[in-house]
Amino acid sequence: MVKCKLCGEIFDDSLTTCPLCGVGPDYFEPVETESAGQVRCSICQAVFDGSEPVCPFCNVGPEYYVPLEDKPGGMVRCKVCQAVFDGSETVCPVCNVGPENFEPLDSAPVTGKVRCDVCQAVFDGSEPVCPFCNVGPEHYVPVDQGQPAGKVRCTICKEVFDASENSCPVCGVGPEYFEPVVEKPAGGKVRCTVCQEIFDASEPVCPVCGVGPEHFVPVEPQKTGKVKCAICGEIFDASEPVCPVCGVGPEHYLPVEEAEAIQRHDTDRRYLILGAGTAAVNAAQAIRDRDGTGTITLLADEEELPYKRPQLTKHMFDGTDAEARAKYFTLHDQAWYAERNITLALGKKIVSLNPAEKRVTLEDGAVCEYDKCIYALGSHFFVPPFGGNDDPRVKTIRTIRDIEEIRTFLEKGKRAVVIGGGVVGLEAAWELKQYGCDVTVLEAMPALMANKLDPVASAMLQGFFEEGSVKILAGAMTDRYENGTIYLKDGTALPAEVVVVSAGVRANGQLAADAGAEQNKAVVVNERMETSLPDLYGAGDCVEFAGMNYALWPEASRQGEVAGANAAGDQLTFAAEIYGMSMEVAGRNLYTIGKASGAGEAPLRTVEFRDDARGNLEKYFFQDDVLCGVTLLGDVSKLSQVTEQVNRKASYDSLFGK
Ligand SMILES: Cc1cc2nc3c(=O)[nH]c(=O)nc-3n(C[C@H](O)[C@H](O)[C@H](O)COP(=O)(O)OP(=O)(O)OC[C@H]3O[C@@H](n4cnc5c(N)ncnc54)[C@H](O)[C@@H]3O)c2cc1C
Ligand SMILES: [Zn+2]
Ligand SMILES: [Zn+2]
Ligand SMILES: [Zn+2]
Ligand SMILES: [Zn+2]
Ligand SMILES: [Zn+2]
Ligand SMILES: [Zn+2]
Ligand SMILES: [Zn+2]
Repeated sequence: MVKCKLCGEIFDDSLTTCPLCGVGPDYFEPVETESAGQVRCSICQAVFDGSEPVCPFCNVGPEYYVPLEDKPGGMVRCKVCQAVFDGSETVCPVCNVGPENFEPLDSAPVTGKVRCDVCQAVFDGSEPVCPFCNVGPEHYVPVDQGQPAGKVRCTICKEVFDASENSCPVCGVGPEYFEPVVEKPAGGKVRCTVCQEIFDASEPVCPVCGVGPEHFVPVEPQKTGKVKCAICGEIFDASEPVCPVCGVGPEHYLPVEEAEAIQRHDTDRRYLILGAGTAAVNAAQAIRDRDGTGTITLLADEEELPYKRPQLTKHMFDGTDAEARAKYFTLHDQAWYAERNITLALGKKIVSLNPAEKRVTLEDGAVCEYDKCIYALGSHFFVPPFGGNDDPRVKTIRTIRDIEEIRTFLEKGKRAVVIGGGVVGLEAAWELKQYGCDVTVLEAMPALMANKLDPVASAMLQGFFEEGSVKILAGAMTDRYENGTIYLKDGTALPAEVVVVSAGVRANGQLAADAGAEQNKAVVVNERMETSLPDLYGAGDCVEFAGMNYALWPEASRQGEVAGANAAGDQLTFAAEIYGMSMEVAGRNLYTIGKASGAGEAPLRTVEFRDDARGNLEKYFFQDDVLCGVTLLGDVSKLSQVTEQVNRKASYDSLFGK
């Protein structure tokens, strides 16, 4: 390498003129090549060869390079797939990426730990910046080694464990993925009396409106009673250390106003609930809270104890035995239903509903009568009409059985095609990749998640998958699945032992429609979750409220609660709140809420913070200067904050104005 003395450009010494300013070799001076060793970029932490003229990731010059100590025979970790292997390998033995993705495994004893006084993270004092919030060493406070180590949470799988662990006991990733679980002392949070923002008492000024501490009032930490998870909407006991559904910590809990004292009214009614998903279970619970004596029966064709369906694509290959079910899937154990005298009639397929006679008929001919019925049969995935789509190896992921079958098909070979680049398809693709499959995602639209993400976020997301060696084919049209191969309309052939289809959700509304209930895209319900038929309520993925078929967990749960409560004589209503969509794919977090696809009649005003080196994006969308959507990619620490801002329709000026 040589450097041009005139313009400073650095280029290969085989060139005879400077590629930038055109002068000849008289102006060239040799560049001191780093001792052929690896260096770490102190800006983006990438590791690469010291001879690079600039950091290949963030483009800063050699003045930011820090030489890596020679570690003869040292072990390294692949930043892409987390595999740990000998640093002398030229490519990752698992995912084949090059040494620029290797990072040395620090086997140094746990000394020199510091705590970041901004975000409270604990990490090695040798880090040039806080790995969590990027502030410099001036924010490091040495950690007293005598102090018992606290708890940390794995940002990948959400497991909470002791900070002294060297790797996550569940998913095996290293400490760079740990985040501290902060047990805030009482009075740690304050509310700004000017803008109502809630934040840490240690902030010098309100992070939203900038007023000083004279406007702060302490917020009592919620220790008892119920809280709501700002991420997934689940309502649970404030004493839970993490959200039982999505695993986030107490910093994302919102207090729930104590419900009005529930009116109890015991009856001898027969409540029949069709389905055993979250809508059905919440309906049963709401009924029992109000009616201690009526009979409650749930009917479902699946044999499983009701479980958390969203986990299917988050733990596709973490097992389905009793232990794995209890750990990842089961909603409540058997005793929970017994204590509430709720009957689970599982393995029963419902074939018809007769609202005039108030009864349903099962496939085996049995008939169940009811006084109040709740229709909560959920949804299924649409399978596009390509040739061979009835092959058993063409799978949708809706049940535990489905993931078991997929695992069986993969015993014959590990090539998978995923049709549909939405949330479920992408989650499945990533799990398949981690399981060792060759994975290709086919998306019919020109970009991933084009209905939820704008082109910038979509392209970054696609980049993460491609870095992780998942192939993405956008604008792909599937023609047929034949002899174990997917053929696209353009002739491309993709051999696949399994084809996972996730191309849109369809409500299971047919039985209600056949019975005469008003039906649109799904069974139509009002805000009390009443269908158009007497004593027939609807809830969850199978219903449509105010034109919306959400097909999301928090909505299904809440609708079930409203339906059950009203069937038992209460007067609850369902209010549409704006919930975000969060997912964890390609080792990154993605959170998007509201209108963040950038599409619309008038161009939306946007504010974008983007850090390609770290793979972070924070993008705000405004319509008529009112916040209408936000996308967070990578660092999603602001998600409670932006959820609240979107729901309160924050103005542009209040967030970014003078
Ligand atoms: C793979 C996957 C990932 C997901 N990820 C997320 C996510 O990250 N976030 C999110 O918010 N949502 C997610 N969802 C959506 C979420 O799981 C659903 O919105 C929610 O489970 C709907 O609950 P439900 O009670 O309405 O219906 P379901 O859970 O579908 O329950 C329907 C019930 O009806 C029964 N049933 C249906 N037909 C019959 C019949 N004819 N006879 C007898 N029983 C019948 C079924 O056995 C089942 O018990 C995901 C869904 C899937 C499949
Ligand atoms: Zn860099
Ligand atoms: Zn790797
Ligand atoms: Zn920090
Ligand atoms: Zn983990
Ligand atoms: Zn304020
Ligand atoms: Zn949650
Ligand atoms: Zn997993």
